[in-house]
Amino acid sequence: MQANPIQRVVIVGGGTAGWMTAALLARALGSQVKIQLVESDEIGIVGVGEATIPSIRLINQFLGLDEDDLLRATHGTFKLGIEFNDWRRLGDSYMHAFGDIGLPLGLIGFHHYCLRDMHERTNAASAGAADSKRAGAPDLWTYSLNATAARQHRFGRMERVGSSPLTGIKYAYQLDAIAYGQYLRRHIDPAIVQRIEGRIVDVQLRADDGFIESVQLASGERVAGDLFIDCSGFRGLLIEGALKTGYDDWTQWLPCDRALAVASERVGPMRPYTQASARTAGWQWRIPLQHRSGNGHVYCSRFVSDDEATAQLLANLEGAPLADPRPLRFTTGMRRQSWNRNCVALGLSAGFMEPLESTSIHLIQSGVNRLLALFPDRHCDVALSTEYNRQTRFEYERIRDFLILHYKATERDDSPFWRQCAQMEIPESLARRIALFRGNGSIFREADELFTEVGWLQVLLGQGIEPQRHHPLADALDQDQLDEFLGNIRTLVGRAAGTLPPHERFVAEHCRAP
Ligand code: FAD
Repeated sequence: MQANPIQRVVIVGGGTAGWMTAALLARALGSQVKIQLVESDEIGIVGVGEATIPSIRLINQFLGLDEDDLLRATHGTFKLGIEFNDWRRLGDSYMHAFGDIGLPLGLIGFHHYCLRDMHERTNAASAGAADSKRAGAPDLWTYSLNATAARQHRFGRMERVGSSPLTGIKYAYQLDAIAYGQYLRRHIDPAIVQRIEGRIVDVQLRADDGFIESVQLASGERVAGDLFIDCSGFRGLLIEGALKTGYDDWTQWLPCDRALAVASERVGPMRPYTQASARTAGWQWRIPLQHRSGNGHVYCSRFVSDDEATAQLLANLEGAPLADPRPLRFTTGMRRQSWNRNCVALGLSAGFMEPLESTSIHLIQSGVNRLLALFPDRHCDVALSTEYNRQTRFEYERIRDFLILHYKATERDDSPFWRQCAQMEIPESLARRIALFRGNGSIFREADELFTEVGWLQVLLGQGIEPQRHHPLADALDQDQLDEFLGNIRTLVGRAAGTLPPHERFVAEHCRAP
């Protein structure tokens, strides 16, 4: 029994961050604490955020949500990965698919065998070998069930590939973010979470230690708490407005600072993946939902005007726009401390990185998990907040590096924006990774960073960074064994993908929205 337990938690904000936090805390803490969520209808929410990554499914398990019901309510579709177009050079395309690629063999990753295969075929071709069997290495995606299914617009729930050791389909969702927040809200016990509507106009701090004591609404009402969760969006009402925590600006590496979001009619196939297509000074997303497509143009205002960015967005829609594009502004970076005194910032108030790899909703989720693991008493021991901030920074910085890689490793020189990206200095942590991969294809996942070796591999190769050598242990197989090993995996993957139904049919049969 704690001597000084937290009894009142106040969540400021009712966007995706606010309602996700409320749902997760309510489930984890139950009636041990009183949770109040303050949101302002007048201010509203950002409400974009339609693409997710597979960790979102853990929320369903934790909250006991039915996946089909969730997708019906949010007009959701399934997502197997992201297709990147025109990033390395115009006309080029690659996929960052979730899930495994092939199967590790011995002590080294599968990709080392593919690299050996690629190198040998290239060498054979340049030596003019007439062995047609070994001409041209198969693409990496032919060893990925997710990528193979995605390219065929197929989807199904498959844990494993038959009785083989290959893992099955790994998926996330593409959903209506506003509907997702409302859905979570409907599943929260109102006896545990009390919603308060109103605009916060002032924040009271304790004189002795600067802890937040209460927030004051325009009506004059004060809402007091022991722990405050700042989910107030970009404005960071508590963490910045009241506590002046400071912000690390990362625009020197991720220079895009504006976005335009617009929904359009969905035409053509229901793709089980998100598309991210590079433009002259940024990139455009396309996310298929059941009833429409979500689109947006993320761009750098130093290199392209708002009018030109709008024109590029509208010219590249598949169906007719359903509204005028909605402008958003942001500064990429993170709060110096996400947890300061008795305030923890989650969602946009904690920081922002463009949605290139759909990481924002995941960061809310991992922030809540971390808070629960380090849950304080009313003293908010600095050792807990220090550890929380250390882990949060590590997670943000590794994601930041992953995003920078897409920009830095470009061969495009058709616009000043891309030329600047190719020339920019990058963080040492990323430079080290690129050098290691360029040497002999080695990739190491650091601690529990979000992106796996396979994720890094696809983007490194997709962006055109080719290792000079493969790992020496990949030479343990003789030529026939290598061909058989790789050939068997391609066959298993190809057959398994062929058994999956078209994505559109799967959605219609399992979770079509009314
Ligand atoms: P908001 O949605 O801004 O909510 C803030 C809340 O605080 C609101 O309820 C507001 O009423 C309340 N509030 C603020 N001030 C006050 C006040 N004074 N008094 C009372 N209440 C107040 N994420 C992904 O995972 N995938 C994506 O594909 C993706 N795409 C994105 C595209 C763009 C262009 C942008 C900008 C973001 C995207 N995101 C994406 C991020 C995602 O939108 C956010 O992480 C998510 O919406 C969480 O926002 P939030 O809840 O932190 O803030």
